[in-house]
Amino acid sequence: MRKEYPCIDVNLSKVTHNAKQILSLCNKKGIDVIGVTKVFCAESPIVQAILDGGITDIGDSRIQNLKKMSNLSCRKTLLRISMESEAKEVVRYSDISLNSELDTIKTLAKAAKRLDKKHNIILMIDVGDLREGVLEEDAVAVVEEILKLDSISLIGLGTNVTCYGGVLPDKDNLGKLIRLKNEIKALCNIELPIISGGNSSSLYMVMDNTIPEGVNQLRVGEGIVLGRETSFGKLIPGCYDDAFILSGEIVEIKNKPTVPKGKIGMDAFGQKPSFEDKGIRKRAIVAIGRQDIKVDGLIPLDNNISIFGASSDHLILDVTDSTRHLKVGDIIDFKMDYGCLLAAMTSYYVKKYYEEELALASMS
Ligand SMILES: *Cc1c(COP(=O)(O)O)cnc(C)c1O
Repeated sequence: MRKEYPCIDVNLSKVTHNAKQILSLCNKKGIDVIGVTKVFCAESPIVQAILDGGITDIGDSRIQNLKKMSNLSCRKTLLRISMESEAKEVVRYSDISLNSELDTIKTLAKAAKRLDKKHNIILMIDVGDLREGVLEEDAVAVVEEILKLDSISLIGLGTNVTCYGGVLPDKDNLGKLIRLKNEIKALCNIELPIISGGNSSSLYMVMDNTIPEGVNQLRVGEGIVLGRETSFGKLIPGCYDDAFILSGEIVEIKNKPTVPKGKIGMDAFGQKPSFEDKGIRKRAIVAIGRQDIKVDGLIPLDNNISIFGASSDHLILDVTDSTRHLKVGDIIDFKMDYGCLLAAMTSYYVKKYYEEELALASMS
């Protein structure tokens, strides 16, 4: 098998290992893990790798992805607040959805009734990050309305932080969920079994033992795929950060100056670039670009390679200090941050290879 470039090599065993590790870390604290599949577009070998790690709950923000996984018997949660226009699909393809708008919840109720189903929802509470969720002071009133809908089961409260406002999860803001759960129990006489305490940014609290008692679910994507918590970017003990490797092919390699000649206008992306004069350097162009990747999210595996920049489909590297004798046709490998992985997995132009295929490739 001849590989095509650019490509991502996915080491499925490492994904399975990370899933197992994080699940065990969380289970010890009485916390369930939803394996979040959106960053890799719910590609089925990777979903399977996560399930092989023992995770039984899958979450995605796109209903198309949940639909793609409808053959899997695991429980599925829709993570992005439902669109009213997709209510029927939400009821059909998700077991649980996260919601914050009463009108949408009523539309889901109608869709559920029509499909003769009961649909589970988690009510999202905004504890400060200002992305999704009802404000705390409005929560009880909204819950009272939800309880009137007989095709809807309210099964929990949830929150999301760090994604928009950069607010870190802590005892105070996650503690608000627990207080609200108790208040709802007292006022509405209903027990809410799930307290969904955020994403990979909450993992540090599992690691340092500060996660408030009562939080019993986390929704984890980045932790599993890149092996790190996202509040401080620390590696999770025993996890791999190199399950996904991006590779691209050198199409030009030449010694050139570091400062362009001529008057400087705007680059292809409307920015006025500036250049530091490092003299003549050996520059390699790799055939991948901003249509496929986020340039500042690329981490060359060779520490001696640095990145000058990229346009839509050319990535320009400084390879002067590399100890390899690089030439046209050679392959350069990178680790990626979350944003870069998201872009590369979504890019139609980046080929994806899974472990077994890689083993075959190395044999031929
Ligand atoms: C994407 C997403 C997650 C997972 O986030 P990670 O940082 O990848 O763990 C969790 N919850 C919601 C609502 C999301 O949209």
